[in-house]
Amino acid sequence: MLGGNLTGGTTVSASQSPAQTGTQQSIRLDPWLDRYADRTAGLSASEVRALFAVASRPEVVSLAGGMPFVSALPQEMLQDAARIATTTRRGEALQYGSGQGIPYFREQICEIMSLEGIHAHPDDVVVTTGSQQAVDLVSQIFLNPGDVVLAEGPSYVGSLGIFRSYQAETVHVPMDDDGLIPQALRETIARLEAAGRPIKFLYTIPDFHNPAGVTMTMERRREVLDICHRHHILVLEDNPYGLLWFDRVPPEAIRSLDSEGVIYLGSFSKIFAPGFRIGYVLAPHAIREKIVLANESAVLSPTTFGQIMISEYLDHNDWRGQIDTFRGLYRDRRDAMINALDEQLPTLPKTHPNGGFYVWLGLPEGFDSKEMLPLAVHELVAYTPGTAFYADGTGQDHIRLSFCYPTPEEIGVGIQRLAKVIHREQDL
Ligand code: PMP
Repeated sequence: MLGGNLTGGTTVSASQSPAQTGTQQSIRLDPWLDRYADRTAGLSASEVRALFAVASRPEVVSLAGGMPFVSALPQEMLQDAARIATTTRRGEALQYGSGQGIPYFREQICEIMSLEGIHAHPDDVVVTTGSQQAVDLVSQIFLNPGDVVLAEGPSYVGSLGIFRSYQAETVHVPMDDDGLIPQALRETIARLEAAGRPIKFLYTIPDFHNPAGVTMTMERRREVLDICHRHHILVLEDNPYGLLWFDRVPPEAIRSLDSEGVIYLGSFSKIFAPGFRIGYVLAPHAIREKIVLANESAVLSPTTFGQIMISEYLDHNDWRGQIDTFRGLYRDRRDAMINALDEQLPTLPKTHPNGGFYVWLGLPEGFDSKEMLPLAVHELVAYTPGTAFYADGTGQDHIRLSFCYPTPEEIGVGIQRLAKVIHREQDL
């Protein structure tokens, strides 16, 4: 801490010495402090982000981030797609494009969504800069300060940050191994309605939830949709992991049950590579119009280069086979993590993901996931504290473990180190 009252525009000495500058120079820490918009109060570095610096040290086994294992993509295939984008389709790939995305690419996206039971028209699809931007655009067009967003508790840290940046309040709805609990949703809505709070949408990750790793049953999908219909609440279905199932196909998307009350988000980050930053939104017609306008105003057009590369990749390669390869790879890593946890920490409650990237682990009574992190990093293992995934400061009693990036052997070592920390603290 540099000291002083930050809101008052503290002054500190510049780092250069008087000998260097010839004079003791004083600068204000942030002279624009009183000029920021109120909404910036909600901008804070996520706990996941703060962890990246530590966890990326090579000696640390990181079970923290959600980085897909992109090295599994064959290099020649990427080179072929890049060659086309820089030669025959270069005029298009290097130029501005449509704010909605390339029409043929949107047709290909519809084919991918059909694997999740969704029958969509390419006109209703908007290409975005990752599904992260899609959450932002939907928030931008729906959220006023003070509005309520309902979300599973826990929920994806990146979306919680977006809702906060629009000065909305996220109210969590409890979940269990079968996903969001409909009765808890009813009760939460009743309580908020009685208090006169405007609920704009339910944000849900029904498949292989981040961070909980669980999947909502079909019965619950129907029930949740029915409850939202009754209360005129939109459903924002975020499904970046749906195709990465391991043992059995998950139920069809909530969007497959209803085209009017659901906005569906998908992404190429997990089935291809996040570096392209390409995701997509499928929305009811009127909402889609607003999303296109908001997208144009934010980025003019989503990356044409990236769209063409992925489009070429989809046209000339066995992308379904590649998804199978990813499934096998992540399944092995999931098995390694579950087996190591069964062996090393058998009494702790955990989820058994049938896909995706994450296991949600309960800590022994009295443990604090945030306080334990420096101890874990000292033992050269990193995880994400459960507190990152709640907007209301809870989550101390859980941690998220990612199995997507480390090898099965590294996962084994990481869990062994984690167990050492937990056992040592238990013995104190
Ligand atoms: N939603 C969820 C649930 C996620 O886990 C992520 C990435 N970790 C995203 C959205 C954002 O993904 P992207 O912007 O890379 O498509």
